[in-house]
Amino acid sequence: MENESTKKWGFQVHQRFKTESAITLRAALTSLTENIDQNDSRPTIPLGHGDPSVFPSFRTANVVEDAIIDAVRSTKFNCYVPFFGILPARRAVADYLNRDLPYTLSPDDVYLTLGCKQAITVILSVLLRPGANILLPRPGWPYYETFTRQNNVEARLFDLLPEKGWEVDLDAVEALADKNTVAMVIINPGNPCGNVFTYQHLQKIAETARKLRIMVISDEVYDHLTFGNTPYVRMGVFGSTVPVITLGSISKRWIVPGWRLGWLVTCDPNGILQKSGVGFSLHLALNLSIDDICHVCCRNPEIYAPNFTCQVVDSIKEYINITSNPAATLIQGAVPQILEKTEEAFYSKIIDILRVAADICYNRIKEIPCIYCLNKPEGSMFVMVKLNPSLLEDINDDMEFCLKLAKEESVIVLPGIVVGMNNWLRITFAVEPSALEDGLGRIKAFYYRHAKK
Ligand SMILES: *Cc1c(COP(=O)(O)O)cnc(C)c1O
Repeated sequence: MENESTKKWGFQVHQRFKTESAITLRAALTSLTENIDQNDSRPTIPLGHGDPSVFPSFRTANVVEDAIIDAVRSTKFNCYVPFFGILPARRAVADYLNRDLPYTLSPDDVYLTLGCKQAITVILSVLLRPGANILLPRPGWPYYETFTRQNNVEARLFDLLPEKGWEVDLDAVEALADKNTVAMVIINPGNPCGNVFTYQHLQKIAETARKLRIMVISDEVYDHLTFGNTPYVRMGVFGSTVPVITLGSISKRWIVPGWRLGWLVTCDPNGILQKSGVGFSLHLALNLSIDDICHVCCRNPEIYAPNFTCQVVDSIKEYINITSNPAATLIQGAVPQILEKTEEAFYSKIIDILRVAADICYNRIKEIPCIYCLNKPEGSMFVMVKLNPSLLEDINDDMEFCLKLAKEESVIVLPGIVVGMNNWLRITFAVEPSALEDGLGRIKAFYYRHAKK
């Protein structure tokens, strides 16, 4: 105890938590919510979130609720399970994706995760070695960029083009990529844009990525939530052209984001993600097993990367084995019933609600001169609208617009800056239709109060 007074209390934390990594979505929504006037007797209209599960119209299907009850009662799902997920659940996810693919995935291609978010963490952790860079869409879902920057890896942003229905600027992708680029990320159907990529555009994405020898990470968390003219196509359809990592979850289509069940799937019929590059010859030269090599590589990336290429698939397994907890066994036990038994009627009911909501949104926005919607949303739950602050007396940008809107009208809308677009707004239309009408009416009143005379 002699030294007790010499060292002061104080702890150094990892630098990653001090980075000025962009404001997170949750932090922005929290500060907007705090800005709401407690004396406003009207209900708050939340048009900023991505979780409609609180609204009666968006209640999940009975068969989905029953799946959990059946899983509990069976007593088969009280145990610890393998880290990649139980076989029936992995098989159910493979079969679910196989309905939309021209080749057949096996359960071994599927890894179950804690929501889609952990699937993102897994693949980025595996790929983001020091010196690498990754291509991300702007606007996009902020977690990709935040996680990349936290790991001191460079995020290179390519634009989605509003004048082209939010298609990827593929010239920018080619210009941004170099030999250290590991992957490009797409989100389809889009968050925050509500766009749906056509078959032809996905094919062009695949061809570009193939030319650049990068894989495509396809975030399909809003899969099949489409209600416009563009049919839903999975990126994995082009898995023979380019290796695709498909990410998804039950959070959005089944409206149970709190259940935390997602997946990472390798859609790679040519087995490119199974092959190793330089590492392969090294393992022959050193007479080591491929497992040994992967261990060495994963533990000492600063020495071996970028000249050492591990098998991607082995690294995914290694990463999950070391770091992850699998999704709750109970939820895994319910997955086959959820994916196989949900009735078409449930899916089409949700699609109909979203279609009507998107229409309301699009038409009401036209009545508000300071915001402008270039593209009517065709999928997901969001629309991006352009804000014109020059029409407003005392509002200079999207953040100020949203803060004042929250304070004066108790309406929450996400400032575009959070998703990478200054002076745009992201509006969620996945709310009760009456609340949507009310919310957009308040935005209109807000505009007329602040309009330049
Ligand atoms: C909601 C969302 C996620 C996260 O999904 P969870 O299953 O809730 O983890 C990932 N990507 C996008 C684009 C999302 O909107």
